[in-house]
Amino acid sequence: MNKTYSKNEIKQLKKQLLSERKNIWSQLTDDERQRAMDYAVGYANFLNEAKTEREAVKFIAETARKADFEPVTKGSGFKKLFWQINGKAAALIHLGKQDILDGIHLIASHIDAPRLDLKQNPLYEELDMAYLKTHYYGGIKKFQWLARPLAIHGVVLTQTGKTIALVLGEHASDPVFTINDLLPHLAGKVQADKKLSEAVPGEKLNVLFGGLPILGPEDMKETVKLNILKMLHDRYGITEEDFISAEIEITPAGPARDVGLDRAFVGGYGQDDRICAYTSMKALLETQKPTHTCVALFMDKEEIGSDGNTGAKSRILELLIHDLLNYMGKKTNPDTLLRIFRNSRAISADVTAGIDPDYQEVHEKRNDALMGYGICLTKYTGSRGKYGANDAHAEYMNWIRRTWNQAGIIWQTGELGRVDEGGGGTVAKYLAYHGMSVVDAGPPLLSMHSPFEIAHKADILMSHKAYEAFYRSPIKG
Ligand code: MN
Ligand code: MN
Repeated sequence: MNKTYSKNEIKQLKKQLLSERKNIWSQLTDDERQRAMDYAVGYANFLNEAKTEREAVKFIAETARKADFEPVTKGSGFKKLFWQINGKAAALIHLGKQDILDGIHLIASHIDAPRLDLKQNPLYEELDMAYLKTHYYGGIKKFQWLARPLAIHGVVLTQTGKTIALVLGEHASDPVFTINDLLPHLAGKVQADKKLSEAVPGEKLNVLFGGLPILGPEDMKETVKLNILKMLHDRYGITEEDFISAEIEITPAGPARDVGLDRAFVGGYGQDDRICAYTSMKALLETQKPTHTCVALFMDKEEIGSDGNTGAKSRILELLIHDLLNYMGKKTNPDTLLRIFRNSRAISADVTAGIDPDYQEVHEKRNDALMGYGICLTKYTGSRGKYGANDAHAEYMNWIRRTWNQAGIIWQTGELGRVDEGGGGTVAKYLAYHGMSVVDAGPPLLSMHSPFEIAHKADILMSHKAYEAFYRSPIKG
């Protein structure tokens, strides 16, 4: 009871009893450190090639094809399958040795990212310049999108039934686009004196698209707009009405880059949540002969609340399982579906906020994620009193923790910010709706939802390893 401990004994006790978060870098082997650097190269390529959900699905489909995955719609007898819906959400499936009725191991990420979408009637001319009107998608800080090079990514479906994929502003020889900002000299009343959130109205997020009039008589109107439409028609066969059946997204232009003299970070657009899409895709590709059926699901619409038929709030999961059962020659009935869901285990793979040294006041140091400290296991998200949260049960947290500890994964646990500060949601609650066990886990980011998000390379690799360990782990206790 009143024993006095020596310095050594106290050290021992600390080691035995305290839980300590550790920076990953010094704990990795030389090979792993090199792997983290190499892994980031492939990841950055993904960020560059997959700036929209459609481009991500294309990339995933192509990667899957090269790894001998077959479309679910094709024949039978294959173990590795690719599934997609509307070209905007997709899944990779690796059928396990065990019956699918025993449940699946699901990692669900999202491949949409905050951006600006073109309105359906976007093109107009003002003061001899052509502009495109936008409606922002997801949570952005509007001022971050001003006075910077922007690119155009999307599809246009024409009256004649053609689908035209557009990528403009990414190659060095391409023109880029931009949203103009007001010079500081005149910004006093309309911007500087206002609240940050009100200083840039959404209706002013108009993209500069052209400035040369079509050549002809002097007294004609809207000749810059006409010139642009003529160029679009000559190049792609597009007319103005075709914008109505288009999905055109404005993203930051240019590739992801290494950040820091030591190249510790990847900086780039859309890392929320393509960092989890990429790492879960790679983890699934590397999982050989799984016991349980492993699924990497890549969803759309998370950034606007998961509504829509490619979002997690739809019956996308039932559709996927239905197609899988069908593929295996089994009937889908409520009993089978419920049984599969109840037996399944899921990770909602999404990013969390890393503690920003300059804004530590919005974080709670003991329970928020640190950059470079590994994948972050987040028991609940939600905001101000866990509203809208999937709060994973302790048994499931324990299973994940033990799985990762056994596999030597370096992980941390965290929330998104201080209790009263705000918060955020993920797809976790929509997976939980089906009855499966689910928890959030993903790497921390800095500058989340900005045009240039920051991830730590050690966290990227550790997320991959954590997802792989999850896929490999048998369901027990
Ligand atoms: Mn996200
Ligand atoms: Mn987000």
